[in-house]
Amino acid sequence: MADEITKPAAPEQAAAPEAGARPSGPRPGGRPGQRPGGSGRDGGRKFFRRKKVCKFCTEKIDNINYKDVRLLSGFVAESGKIVPRRLTGVCTPHQRRVTEAIKQARNIALLPFAAGH
Ligand SMILES: [Zn+2]
Repeated sequence: MADEITKPAAPEQAAAPEAGARPSGPRPGGRPGQRPGGSGRDGGRKFFRRKKVCKFCTEKIDNINYKDVRLLSGFVAESGKIVPRRLTGVCTPHQRRVTEAIKQARNIALLPFAAGH
């Protein structure tokens, strides 16, 4: 680092004009925001898949009661929205029953329609 003074300036100046011609650059003057190569695209996924099984299938809950707010609230987001099936892992027939139950529960004000009123 401190050797800058001892370094002769002559070879740098001589090499400078010729360095303009790149024999075979790795990036042919492409975009500046290009990511430096090296790590391919193998580490793409941040979320590894968890094995999700439908909660109602495992616990064999067949009829979902709309009065069961504690159960239903697990499928309602904080905003009051129904959590989509892909997030909860509930199977389709059970998700349908959950949504129906949530809507019924909303009508009797057990669950919110939307947050922040
Ligand atoms: Zn199920």
